[in-house]
Amino acid sequence: MLSRGFLSSAASSALASRNTLYKQGSEPGEEVFLLETTVWLIRREARGWHLRQKSFSFAIPHRLSRGSFGGSQTSLSEEQQNKRTMLRSGLDQSNATPFPVVIIGNGPSGICLSHLLSGNIPYVRRGSVHPNPILQRKLEETPELSILDQDLEYLSEGLEGRSSSPVALLFDALLRPDTDFGGTEDSVLTWWHQPEKAIPHLVLGKNPPGGAWHSIEGSMFTLSQGNWMSLPDLPFKDWLSKKKRGFRNNRTTAGDIVQYYQYYVAKKELKKNFLCGTIVTSVKKLSVDADPSCSKPEQRTCSSPWDFSENLQVNHHADSGRLFKVDGLVSTIHGTQPFSVYAENVVLATGTYDSPSWLGAAGEHLSFVHHTLSALEEAVKNKEIGPMSDPVLIVGAGLTAADAVLFAHHYNIPIIHAFRRRVHDPALIFNQLPRMMYPEYHKVHQMMEEQAIPCPGPYEYYVSLPEHRVVSFTEDRKCILCDKNGRQKIHNISMAFVLIGSNPNLSYLPNNGVDLAIDSDQPVSSKRNPMDVDPFTYESVQEKGLYAVGPLAGDNFVRFVQGGALAVASSLLKKVNPNPP
Ligand SMILES: Cc1cc2nc3c(=O)[nH]c(=O)nc-3n(C[C@H](O)[C@H](O)[C@H](O)COP(=O)(O)OP(=O)(O)OC[C@H]3O[C@@H](n4cnc5c(N)ncnc54)[C@H](O)[C@@H]3O)c2cc1C
Repeated sequence: MLSRGFLSSAASSALASRNTLYKQGSEPGEEVFLLETTVWLIRREARGWHLRQKSFSFAIPHRLSRGSFGGSQTSLSEEQQNKRTMLRSGLDQSNATPFPVVIIGNGPSGICLSHLLSGNIPYVRRGSVHPNPILQRKLEETPELSILDQDLEYLSEGLEGRSSSPVALLFDALLRPDTDFGGTEDSVLTWWHQPEKAIPHLVLGKNPPGGAWHSIEGSMFTLSQGNWMSLPDLPFKDWLSKKKRGFRNNRTTAGDIVQYYQYYVAKKELKKNFLCGTIVTSVKKLSVDADPSCSKPEQRTCSSPWDFSENLQVNHHADSGRLFKVDGLVSTIHGTQPFSVYAENVVLATGTYDSPSWLGAAGEHLSFVHHTLSALEEAVKNKEIGPMSDPVLIVGAGLTAADAVLFAHHYNIPIIHAFRRRVHDPALIFNQLPRMMYPEYHKVHQMMEEQAIPCPGPYEYYVSLPEHRVVSFTEDRKCILCDKNGRQKIHNISMAFVLIGSNPNLSYLPNNGVDLAIDSDQPVSSKRNPMDVDPFTYESVQEKGLYAVGPLAGDNFVRFVQGGALAVASSLLKKVNPNPP
């Protein structure tokens, strides 16, 4: 059962968000929370949570822990000064009460979940007919029930498509009924705003809302069709046409996507839930009624790395006694400050793009060796490299490496492109993409094929080295490469970009989250070893109250991460109200 919410202390970067959160006090039957200029009044009613919001123009009091509201507007510098005071004063942790849900990660998964938890409830649109007759028949059985209240296992049974998650296929089928067959039929869903079904939640994220899309170069085209980048109840194509732009080859740019996600958060009035500029550094499960033997680290006898105890009196009303503590750092214009939040449920939505893979080659730590595409863009922008430089070495044969080749090629920067596979290896992504839809990637593939040493082809600035591996980098900007026959050659390079994939960074979880993976002896990997979650709730099989969505749960495309959000929202609502109408 979810209990009354709350949170301790936090503030966000002035650029990214103006949100600042702290507890103000409580009244009988109600608790009062501040979100910088906003107060939430949260009350539990028979039908669920009632969330009332009041906006204030106020001077943040200097003595925050006991402060009262002033009535006047402050100047920005005074406000910032007060924010600083607030951060310094910290929180009275001993009186903290938990927040019902904390979402870590503010990409498409976190945004979509925040939309659902904000009381935006999907129902089947009256008169709609789904092209899948079996699904249509099931949808007709209880049209008065929201999709969140229905049995997702029953609805999704038998659905097939490009995802292995039944709920991802279900939500995708409801939002884009016949899209895999080229259809453009409207969604069969209609959305009702039902504030009484909202669940108070907080979304934490490093950057402004948009997730991984902030780190992708704005001019890059999506791999997916533009329509598939939409979030619920606000089609991307409508936003794009308002901007008087359209798709190219049905695709769109990363720059437009990230703008659309930020627009979505603003338009759907979700901003109040987002605290950006925050990095979560630790998530721990607390045993509130502590076993004394667990309370001191040196005496800890608990078997799970997840079980911690803390000497605090948490205002906690959850029946289960389960509670998570989320620690992190928040950036403001005055620097970085620690914060802590208590939560009854935590949703991990941190994606998988924060920790680029390394080759493990000698010298890979040297300053001219990089692991992100953005480092190449920076270097070109800062004129560190140009047409007269020594070649850049690009390592990898995935789409990010291909993007790097296209980018450097565009600026006439000489390129050595090394990769382990054969050019015609069927596992290479280029051999799986339709030529018509992805002409730029086929151009790279063509270059890889035609420009391989020892038969240099027509591309002056580009050399392809299939079936090569990096042996080492040296301080004088040389790289030793080894071919399939073991022959080694030294190359002068200006910079190296190792673009061979990425892994989730779960350093904020005990044991890097390994215990939560399907194979609990191996690191979490979106493709090979995702988190072990229930397919219909996305709750961790190992840790109740902990959820994982998006690539962490094995859903790698925006169109499918939304199913995870649906499953989590449905599960949380059913916890609040185990007997829906
Ligand atoms: C180059 C590239 C191209 C892509 N092209 C496509 C495409 O064409 N179509 C498609 O559907 N998908 C594409 N994807 C995949 C798509 O980006 C993901 O499916 C989607 O962004 C996943 O959403 P998410 O919200 O789960 O995670 P993310 O978008 O990764 O967001 C997670 C956020 O959490 C933040 N975070 C991580 N750790 C912490 C922490 N400790 N504290 C606070 N915040 C944290 C991250 O910084 C990030 O901002 C592409 C990805 C890349 C890298």
